Amino acid sequence: MIYFDHNATTPVCQPALTAWMQASQEHWYNPASLYREAGLTAHRLEAARERLSELLGCEADRIVFTSGATEANNALFAAVVGADDCHISGIEHPSVTEAAEHWMRGRIKTLPVDENGVVQFESLPTVSALVSVMAANNESGVLQPWREIADHCRARGIPFHTDATQWIGKLDSTMLGNCDYLTGSAHKFGGPKGVGFLVMADEDQALHFLRGGPQENRRRAGTVNYPAIEAMGTALEWAEGLREEAATVQAGLRDSFEADLQKTLLGTRIVNGSAPRLWNTSLLVMPKHDNRKWIGRLSQAGFAVSTGSACSSGTEGSSVVLHALGAAPEELKRTLRVSSGWETSVGDWAALAEAFKRVWAGLEG
Ligand code: PMP
Repeated sequence: MIYFDHNATTPVCQPALTAWMQASQEHWYNPASLYREAGLTAHRLEAARERLSELLGCEADRIVFTSGATEANNALFAAVVGADDCHISGIEHPSVTEAAEHWMRGRIKTLPVDENGVVQFESLPTVSALVSVMAANNESGVLQPWREIADHCRARGIPFHTDATQWIGKLDSTMLGNCDYLTGSAHKFGGPKGVGFLVMADEDQALHFLRGGPQENRRRAGTVNYPAIEAMGTALEWAEGLREEAATVQAGLRDSFEADLQKTLLGTRIVNGSAPRLWNTSLLVMPKHDNRKWIGRLSQAGFAVSTGSACSSGTEGSSVVLHALGAAPEELKRTLRVSSGWETSVGDWAALAEAFKRVWAGLEG
């Protein structure tokens, strides 16, 4: 199978697999235990925290390891529950919007997006309990002005969070640590599933994700998953080593693929195609036929693509981005997302374009 769904999850890269295996065989002890071997595991855990902090440009003790981005986003919104208001964008991942809805119902202000899918922040006030805007969108790949928003918030003392789950490993992440809060997840950059992190503002010692133990500086109780954390750092180093070349190569191949489809499958629309985007992502509105049909036929032909967002596959056909852009409901059902990886080849992209054409001929015929 040729895989074009990296925004949903990525295969675990070989160095991360090796790191996980080694950690699981040699350093599987509970880092909270008191004998020498456990102490060594605890030491390695702190070294992994250091390594991640360097890649993200933040202090190591601001990092809390979690089960992934969903947990990190939920923990953050649970912590602002008593606040008067929060501001989130209209294109956040459901783990931000639904957590905000749950804890802050009636007190959420939504920042609009323009026709390019870029969050507009002119309406941000001078006071707010939290502003949360993602770094790169998971459906369209559109890059968001998180640096400018972080500056705006810092100048006014407003806490700023960015969900950088889709950014990390694909673009330079060393400035992300400047945000007060930062979410990431290993399985989006070649690491294992079930591990991620929240970087917190350093004054936040009172923010508890889970109670019941002293782990993670009392913020998140539960035995720490050191092998997965070790593999996450290794994966991020792996992605960091490949990302600059991938940014040029993949963006070129993605653009040619889009141009080819638009020329041969007339009426194909590229959502936010002229906005700055992640190098791997293409959000397409096909001229005809339900996206489930497209996905089924492409899958039979050996290609994996998704609807707008695999995370909402229970409600396939929905796209947060197209919704925010005011697309017609009927268009939402024709949306497909193609997302390549660091090592997707020229041949893979060419084969995908041919498969789209064959599937189209089959659906029309
Ligand atoms: N935020 C964004 C932007 C995402 O793309 C995803 C994964 N689709 C998540 C959060 C949730 O990540 P996880 O699977 O680690 O819970």
